[in-house]
Amino acid sequence: MDHAVRIQRLQSELEENDLHALLVTHLPNVRYLCGFTGSAAALLVAARETVLFTDGRYRTQAKEEVKGARVFVARKSPLVAAAEWLAARRKAGQQRVGIEPESITAGMRDRLAAALKGKVRLRSVPPLVERARMVKDADEIARVRRAVELCASLFPVACKKIRPGVTEVEVAAAMEYEARCAGAEGMSFGTILAAGTRSAIVHGRASGARIPRRGFVVCDFGVILAGYCSDRTRTVHVGRVSAEAQELYEAVLEAQQAAIATVRPGVTAAEVDGAARRVLRRRRLARYFTHSTGHGLGLEIHEAPRLAAGQNQKLEPGMVVTIEPGVYVPGKWGVRIEDVVVVTASGCEVLAPTDKELIII
Ligand code: ZN
Ligand code: ZN
Repeated sequence: MDHAVRIQRLQSELEENDLHALLVTHLPNVRYLCGFTGSAAALLVAARETVLFTDGRYRTQAKEEVKGARVFVARKSPLVAAAEWLAARRKAGQQRVGIEPESITAGMRDRLAAALKGKVRLRSVPPLVERARMVKDADEIARVRRAVELCASLFPVACKKIRPGVTEVEVAAAMEYEARCAGAEGMSFGTILAAGTRSAIVHGRASGARIPRRGFVVCDFGVILAGYCSDRTRTVHVGRVSAEAQELYEAVLEAQQAAIATVRPGVTAAEVDGAARRVLRRRRLARYFTHSTGHGLGLEIHEAPRLAAGQNQKLEPGMVVTIEPGVYVPGKWGVRIEDVVVVTASGCEVLAPTDKELIII
């Protein structure tokens, strides 16, 4: 993980974007560029210098973590400190400084403007750092791989715990306890455990509902390990499986495999999405597939690219995306199957692959 190279790459983009500096306020971007993991930070990347502004709570941590940037420990908010630092510069009047509009609130922008006293021109810029983050380096891929492997080891825990009468949270809690014991820093998101008719809820967070005697159980879970996220969904069935339920499961699995088979460099995100949707359309299930086919992941659980209709981003080696078609029939049932794949030179690699035949409990 070479932070200096990441910063240099961004510095070389400043000029193309007609900027003297970029003020990075989205914390995962700060972490990506200089390694700092604290919760109060603004990273100012200028053509020849990079400064991390943080506050007194992070004096020691910043010294230990930050690579490729000078650390400035501020008495006030890091954002205001960065603004005052900019305003005090000799050529402040001619400076154009980029900000990340998606991570700056209206209040933050007001405070920034007040501290700059009109001396610096602020400009919203496209997501430069997010674009760089789309393609992972070898170290990042290794981290995602370890996170997905740990994540995969939680599914047998779920299968052991899933029984009629057990609550969804009891299953989720067993998985999360196992995750923490195995070294996870936390879960990537609130564990989704949706049983019976609740399986038709796309984001059915584990609730106090009891697992019924019969029906699907959607388990969607992920851990954060060494800063990197994982994400995986498996759907199991409790009790006797009807022919219709079996068919539904197989349709989703076929859609997932069709999408995975499409993934290779040069293919657009929309084409991958289309491949999954085509399978479900043939089975007259497309209208129940109500979300996109997948998303990038890394330092965050949802990153670019988004695998959805209309997304013409081409896939490149080193991108890491989920493939997760699902079918949800309201009031009845739902099935989703999700894996994380890495785009390789000739196709893709499924991380922690397993047999995905329907498991009946
Ligand atoms: Zn998921
Ligand atoms: Zn996902």
